[in-house]
Amino acid sequence: MLRVGLTGGIGAGKSTVAARLVEHGAVLIDADLLAREVVEPGTEGLAEIVDAFGRDVLTEHGALDRAALAARAFADEESRRRLNGIVHPRVGARTAELMQAAATDAIVLHDIPLLVEGGLAPHYHLVIVVDADEEIRVRRLVGSRGMSEADARARIAAQASPEQRRAAADVWLDNGGARDIVLAEVDALWADRLVPFEANLRLRKPRPPRSPLVSPHDESWPAQAERALARIRAAIGDKALRADHIGSTAVPGLPAKDVLDLQLTVPSLARADEVADILSGAGFPRAEGHWFDDPQDDSTPVALWDKRFHFGADPVRPVNLHVRSVEGPAWRLPLLFRDWLRANPPELTAYAEVKRRLAGAHAGDGTTLPYAEEKQGWVNDAFVRAERWAERTGWSPA
Ligand code: ADP
Repeated sequence: MLRVGLTGGIGAGKSTVAARLVEHGAVLIDADLLAREVVEPGTEGLAEIVDAFGRDVLTEHGALDRAALAARAFADEESRRRLNGIVHPRVGARTAELMQAAATDAIVLHDIPLLVEGGLAPHYHLVIVVDADEEIRVRRLVGSRGMSEADARARIAAQASPEQRRAAADVWLDNGGARDIVLAEVDALWADRLVPFEANLRLRKPRPPRSPLVSPHDESWPAQAERALARIRAAIGDKALRADHIGSTAVPGLPAKDVLDLQLTVPSLARADEVADILSGAGFPRAEGHWFDDPQDDSTPVALWDKRFHFGADPVRPVNLHVRSVEGPAWRLPLLFRDWLRANPPELTAYAEVKRRLAGAHAGDGTTLPYAEEKQGWVNDAFVRAERWAERTGWSPA
């Protein structure tokens, strides 16, 4: 099952986007709707609210009087916490129930206004943010929901900022224009990303290689890597020692293949095998076959250069995830190489030059192997300089 989080500021167009994705076949879990359901007349939730806040929060028909409840519950921090303590666990339990009930090949869409505020992004395979300028949102809320302008602005101010939402967004949908524009984007998103993502995840199928050997450096690579790492950390917890962004995409200014290299460092390869299914379920299926790093010298047993390899199932955001044991020497080297390049601009320039030249020479190969092998020659020499630098500066993996 692919878990997709959908969020955005009030009035941005979440419901509009959600409705379209449901037309395509997504299974919708609507957080606002659940928050109302768990306090409907006859529920335990409503009974607890009455116990906590008195019968005055009910209408004459015995339903929840939201205005009366808000006056009581939002009066002070203690009351607000009490209300959340009644509603949130019930919404959480119901959400988990609905997730579990979804088919194994479902694309589950969780429409949750406070996804960013709650720090929940790492728990989804993909986060979609719908956005529109504040002025447009205010106009829509006043026009279609009969809200006062002051109320609309106050609600917007209480939510996450556009910057916070950007940091969480794998997909950013600008709904500031006509409805048809965003709906066309949603159609493409469904067909080109969500459907193949779900299939890759379920079938544990590697994505086809498609990116050119080198692309100009993309300043958003570190933020993209951070989102993937946050997912990995959330899934793995303390079963791993550390998770890092490595490789050329982690070095500002360096051109690179548009594939994020990530490294999960574990206490042993046995642990790597133990967490394989967790990583697969989190969106990083394990690749079959035997994977190992090239020994840098013959002073260490070859077995210590073994690793496990996973790849990102998202067809639009290629990721290579190297799982390396702290028992071997290989986990340290990508961190050293990355930090050395970051700290030594002339080396960075030289490496960028080598990559461009080799990429040009091997553009027609149809396989990345000869390019990678030739590049490795420069890298092996560079490691001698990097190690000297590490000794001189006292570098160790931060
Ligand atoms: P949200 O669920 O994020 O609060 P909605 O999807 O309910 O937002 O959209 C808010 C209001 O704006 C609704 O009345 C909706 O019909 C309208 N709306 C959404 N997208 C557009 C658009 N592109 N142009 C005009 N109105 C829109």
